[in-house]
Amino acid sequence: MTMIRSYAALQAGAPLQPFEYEAGELPRDHVEIDVKYCGLCHSDLSMLDNDWGLSQYPFVAGHEIIGTVAAVGAGVQTVRPGQTVGLGWYSQSCMHCDQCMSGDHNLCPTAEGTIVGRHGGFADKVRAHASWVLPLPDGLDPATSGPLFCGGITVFNPIIRNGIAATDRVGVIGIGGLGHMAVKLAHAMGAEVTVISRSNSKKDDAARLGADHYVATEEAGALRAHRNEFDLIINTVSAPLDLDTYLRLLRLDGTMVNVGAPPEPLSLRVFTLFGNRRSFAGSSIGGIRETQEMLDFCAEHGIVPDTELIDGAQVNEAWDRVLASDVRYRFVIDASTI
Ligand SMILES: [Zn+2]
Ligand SMILES: [Zn+2]
Repeated sequence: MTMIRSYAALQAGAPLQPFEYEAGELPRDHVEIDVKYCGLCHSDLSMLDNDWGLSQYPFVAGHEIIGTVAAVGAGVQTVRPGQTVGLGWYSQSCMHCDQCMSGDHNLCPTAEGTIVGRHGGFADKVRAHASWVLPLPDGLDPATSGPLFCGGITVFNPIIRNGIAATDRVGVIGIGGLGHMAVKLAHAMGAEVTVISRSNSKKDDAARLGADHYVATEEAGALRAHRNEFDLIINTVSAPLDLDTYLRLLRLDGTMVNVGAPPEPLSLRVFTLFGNRRSFAGSSIGGIRETQEMLDFCAEHGIVPDTELIDGAQVNEAWDRVLASDVRYRFVIDASTI
């Protein structure tokens, strides 16, 4: 039996406050993690406010978790106590549906979200099925690697699934938590990377992150100059865009993948897809093996998210700054302060 200390919202939109809960016996195929660091993702905010109708209260956010294995159930063989590990959006999947058997565990229809109907990582401890608890490779800093487990894999997946190579041109719409990781990863793959942002305010940052080109959409005609250019566009913004304008930027067989999630329905002209045989797609998170590949790739290429470390007590203030896009580019909570 374990008492877990956490920060929880007692109702939708309420500020987080200290909250303790009894976690019960550790199931034989589960791992208990001593949380060291936990990133703040925009999805935590959506869940806090019950934007998706999935939230239960008290609500403990946090799904970009780095920690050390505190205990393992009797059936766990993949990690051992003391090992440094991470846990992301999912904490369990069925392991026998078509999606799980194909390695696309993130698309399992019964996959369990780490903060959906259970308590997440803004806590001193968190638990998950062993299969989703992945060892952090040597060379990755535990203090900055948490966001790889949600934001990182979310943008790595479309790069890999679309076979992006050094000869390809990748556009990234929006430079935030997701976008800045997309630029780093696509650049490390060798692709020619263009950041598409509203203003020039992040132009220097984009170059530092590895972007080759920068487009400020508020400048008249800026997008038109890039028509038929990109093999892949990763759209990280969660506000609605004029899709046809952006889809026209795709060259032959190019794909635009939405990883940001506007709550409103989107519309586009199918004729825009006919031209250049373009595709419009969505993607979220990635499978277990792919997540490990992403971690290994980041360790090999020295890729870490840009983070700002905060104490547990600063979390409510940090939410406000996330909403105001006033963070470059991810907050990470130091769990020793919880
Ligand atoms: Zn997330
Ligand atoms: Zn499944």
